[in-house]
Amino acid sequence: MMQKSYREELVGVFGDPIDENPTVILEQAAFQACQLNYRYLNILVKSEDLEQAILGMKAMHMKGINLTIPHKCAVLPYLDGISKEASIIGAVNTIVVKDGKLVGENTDGKGFLTSLQENDITVLGQEIMILGAGGAARAIAVELALAGAKKITIVNRSRQRGEELTTLIQEKTSCQAEFLLWNKTISIPEEINILVNATSIGLFPNVEQKPDLDESSLRPDLVVCDVIPNHPRTQLLKMAEQQGAKTIDGLGMLVNQGAINFQLWTGKKAPVEVMKQAIQKEFGLEESL
Ligand code: NDP
Repeated sequence: MMQKSYREELVGVFGDPIDENPTVILEQAAFQACQLNYRYLNILVKSEDLEQAILGMKAMHMKGINLTIPHKCAVLPYLDGISKEASIIGAVNTIVVKDGKLVGENTDGKGFLTSLQENDITVLGQEIMILGAGGAARAIAVELALAGAKKITIVNRSRQRGEELTTLIQEKTSCQAEFLLWNKTISIPEEINILVNATSIGLFPNVEQKPDLDESSLRPDLVVCDVIPNHPRTQLLKMAEQQGAKTIDGLGMLVNQGAINFQLWTGKKAPVEVMKQAIQKEFGLEESL
């Protein structure tokens, strides 16, 4: 008879703050459904302790870790390798441990891209407008550019961040890019096929907040996406629905980045539907199942 193993494989997330990070719900549901002896832990790690935490992760033979604020860029010096996409984005949200080596990935933009694919939205040759130029916008813009978008327009309130991201796309990908300063109500130009809100506008508790844009420029042939995962039916998506546009909420991005992490850490296909249902239940969204 085989000796039963009580060993548990550890993964999780390092961040500060960390209390409200919901990825644990997705990952635990997936491990349980696949009967894997894995645990996902939300671990409070202060900026000054990141190196120690990474060493601890190696010492404990962890399979990997997610990184959130404030560690996504700070972790770069401690990695043994980095994916092409994460290197262009300049930030890592997932570490995978392979033969004792730490490899950095960025699964935020890939999760977003997968949620477009799930909705049969093609990126190739499309003209895309992205609101925001922070961490989420960077990851999304780079993945969309690498997936063959024709042109990306970055719209941002602060010029410096917006111009930096625009230059990054122009220099590191073959996608065209331009920057638009967001200092007045914007109208979505006719040639735009996909609009993405990658700002924190609409994030709980500011659920009534909406981007400053001309509602009548949201056309029925436009795809409107939002990244807000909790309370995902944002004011922007409601506005877009009223104009007949197709909408994609931020829950898909969250679930799919979790599914990609799961696959990277376990080598197994993720039970995406189980993960989606677990997070919908957690967020009290069961009625939309
Ligand atoms: P950052 O702080 O890095 O960037 C925030 C961006 O939002 C900046 O471009 C900022 O503009 C802009 N912004 C914020 N408030 C306003 C406003 N009132 N008007 C105009 N622009 C505004 O945050 P992240 O990029 O890390 O996160 C952005 C959002 O993405 C969050 O809501 C987060 O929850 C979500 N997210 C969702 C994920 C998912 O899986 N669904 C994964 C990761 C993030 P400026 O540069 O001018 O300050």
